[in-house]
Formats: sequence, C-alpha cells, structure tokens
Amino acid sequence: MGKSSTIGFLLLCLSLSLLLQKSRASSTSPPWGNQELEGSAGARTLKQEQGHSPEVHCSRERSRAAWKITEEYLMPFVEKEQYQISNKCRLHPDNDMFRDQELHKIHMDVNEWRCGYCKKSFRAEKFLDQHFDNRHSDLLNSHGKCLADLCGALHCDLVMDSKLRKTKCNPAAAERNRHLCESLADNCFPIGVRSAASRLHELFLRQFCDAHTCTGRHKPFSRGGRKQVSVFYIAISILTLMLLPVFYLLVYLHRREMRTSIQDLKRISKIGQKTKPL
Ligand SMILES: [Zn+2]
Repeated sequence: MGKSSTIGFLLLCLSLSLLLQKSRASSTSPPWGNQELEGSAGARTLKQEQGHSPEVHCSRERSRAAWKITEEYLMPFVEKEQYQISNKCRLHPDNDMFRDQELHKIHMDVNEWRCGYCKKSFRAEKFLDQHFDNRHSDLLNSHGKCLADLCGALHCDLVMDSKLRKTKCNPAAAERNRHLCESLADNCFPIGVRSAASRLHELFLRQFCDAHTCTGRHKPFSRGGRKQVSVFYIAISILTLMLLPVFYLLVYLHRREMRTSIQDLKRISKIGQKTKPL
C-alpha cells in the first residue's frame, strides 16, 4: 500500500506541476498565437510575389509568418533578458505595417473571425484579410515597413506551406540571407551597449543566421521556442492524466486480489488446524 500510494502521489504532483507550467506558457503566448496560417492564402500571395520586388507587394501572410517566428523563437529570450528592442530595429512592432490590423483580428471560433474595427464576421481568416485590404486599408501603419522583406533571414518558408519550399540550396541566396540576418542582429542587438544585448546578438546568430549555408550542418531555431515547449507540456500532461486512473485501477485490483488470497490462505490454515488432531 505504502509504495504504490507514494508512486501515485508523485504522479499526481508531476501532472499538476506540468499543467501549471502549461497554463503559464499559454498565458504568455501572444494574442495571435491561436491564429493559423492559411496555406492557400499564402500560396496566392507567393504567386504574386514571384519575380517582383517585395517592397511593392508586401505579403500579409509572409509578414505574419515572420512575426510568428520572432514571437516564438526570439521574444521568449528577449523577455527573459528584460531587453527593450529599439524602434530602429526592423523587428520592433511599430515597424510592421500590418501590426495594428493583425491586433484587430478577433478569433471567435474555428470558423469565425471578426473584424475588430467594424465587428463584421467572416468564415475564415483569409476573408478577414481581404476585408482589411478592401475596407480598412487606411488603417495600415504608414510608417511601418514590410516585415515579409525579412523572411529570407528568418526562414519563413519553414513555417509556411511546405510544398512551396525550395528544395535546392542556392549558395548566393544563402549568402545574401546570411548577410541580411547578421545586419538584423547588429541593428536589433548592438554589441557593447549592454551585456544583455551582446547575449541576444549571439543568440540571434545561432537561432537564425548560422543555418544560412548550403552545408546543411546547422538547423534554424536550434535554441528552441515557446510553442514547442507548451505543446510538449500539454502532451505530457494529457498522457499523465490519462494514465493515472489506469494506474489506480491496477493498484486497486492488485490489492483486492491480495486480500482474497490472504483470506483463502487463512481459511486453508484453519481447516488444516481443525483436521490435525484426527
Ligand atoms: Zn471591418
């Protein structure tokens, strides 16, 4: 009894602590963490972009992918260092022309998206995107820049539709992306200003820039991110919660069996004692 109940108690403690960590992780996740990338919408804009200058056609989908990547793979570290990104950095929210519109998206249900400006509802995020383009284009941040321009440096293709990913590595393109990536690191986290900036500069190079080679030796986002951690905890917590009743059932059945076998033994020994004098 002692051993099994201790194990059960430990499992319960483990699942509770995992659930607590999970809720903490989800509470710090950004407002657009529950929004999904529309693969088909991304394809539409990518098609438009091919062969054109990204400054002319700023893709909302690719900008969103770039934003998602920084939120997941950079901001947890920036928050941990309590570092304030300057607005000279291209990754500062003020420099994203779609930021205000993206913050005015209300995800009501799986198939319901609402415009935060006029409260109109849509079946999918891509229709709300079209609505923003048609009705609220005046609310685009005029001082903002196209975040999608940084997609080369930030590996946006990895979080977007995998079918559109290039399979062949182009050394010249990899070199260009690496240069863009390193200049981003220099602008956003200037070395020598503060030690936190130096640490984040180093992290930025490891997390995003090292993978811009054709050797395939380095993988992007090597230091992990916010979403991966929370998904892992959710999976572990659910698994533990599912296994706990099974564990208790097994303990209960085992104890019941033990009790009946002890009673049987007692009965046999009593019968033996009664029959001995004969
Ligand atoms: Zn609207």
